[in-house]
Amino acid sequence: MLPSGGMRKSFTEDNQLVSNEEMLKKSLILLPEEKAFFASKNGKRALPFRLTTHYLKLIQSDPTGALRRMAIPRINELSVLDYETPDPLNEELFEKVPRCIHRYTDRVLVLVTDVCALYCRHCFRRRFTGENKGVLSEAEVRTIRGYIESHPEVRELILSGGDPLMVPDSKLEYILQILGTAGNITVTRISSRVPVVLPSRISRSLVRMLSRQRQVWMVLHINHPAEVSPRFAGTVRMMLESGIPLVSQTVLLKGVNDSVKTLAELFYRLLALGVKPYYLFQGDLAPGTSHLRVPLSRGLELYRELSSNISGLALPGYAVDLPGGGGKVRLGAGSIAEVRGGEYHIQSVDGRFFRYPVEQD
Ligand SMILES: *Cc1c(COP(=O)(O)O)cnc(C)c1O
Ligand code: SF4
Repeated sequence: MLPSGGMRKSFTEDNQLVSNEEMLKKSLILLPEEKAFFASKNGKRALPFRLTTHYLKLIQSDPTGALRRMAIPRINELSVLDYETPDPLNEELFEKVPRCIHRYTDRVLVLVTDVCALYCRHCFRRRFTGENKGVLSEAEVRTIRGYIESHPEVRELILSGGDPLMVPDSKLEYILQILGTAGNITVTRISSRVPVVLPSRISRSLVRMLSRQRQVWMVLHINHPAEVSPRFAGTVRMMLESGIPLVSQTVLLKGVNDSVKTLAELFYRLLALGVKPYYLFQGDLAPGTSHLRVPLSRGLELYRELSSNISGLALPGYAVDLPGGGGKVRLGAGSIAEVRGGEYHIQSVDGRFFRYPVEQD
């Protein structure tokens, strides 16, 4: 089940997969709301449960309980609000050929696999994730290559999923070679949570293979300072030394990272390792995620406070993917309010308004 290729040599007890209640109970005392999820028949129809022994250890040494909220399902996950939908970003509308989402002009996003090492309870792509579709077939890879070649405006390839780093090295290399060089692609971005949840997967040979391709950027999905483990830091160092630039994306989550202190700590830890915080995402309206979602008003308040406190290098953009296919929008700390009396009135991070002249071109 684990991807091969560089895995066996670094095989440690940290890379076992825990995928049922019995295995979990050997390491943790379950909370009533977690037990209730496992006891429910409907739990079987939800996003599968799975985490790694590495992450289990992080949970055991996290007194805040933040990490277990992201990894262990609770009964609340079975309450679906009427405005929550399986495809909250309307991605299916932009799926131009199977597994290839082309929503923004110059970049395409490819759903490489639906498998992850750990299934995040806040996952917004649960219409696809954990559905046993497996890795992209060679025929699908060729179809996507054809699509990219007939769209010369596409310059960037984004590998997503699921988690692309769950794919065995040789298959991933094949995908990178065929798609990463198609048409006018000059850069590939790989979005992954594997360095955080299954760091032993990031072997020297995997990193070497990635660094041999046309420029690869890695986007790390990381949500809490306690996820910045020594093993994670080791994978970050290895990737940076091999010339793979790293940025991060974080989902704003209730009871996990919804405080200025926690977010600032996470972003500074990342910055100290050489990872630029790129996005902080408002929670998407995916089914059963309301117990993890922070209200937008609170998100804006947190972001405003964060922006006036931390270094611009440590500050990611705060973005919401608009429901119904509106796409990503960055929500600023300040914004242009209006033009009045021949001047812009712009709000600063502390909420006051300042004027800026309207000039002629
Ligand atoms: C988020 C996303 C991208 C990347 O957007 P950036 O703002 O460049 O990070 C591309 N395609 C899809 C479908 C996305 O959801
Ligand atoms: S790693 Fe990404 S795709 Fe996989 S479960 Fe987490 S959020 Fe979903």
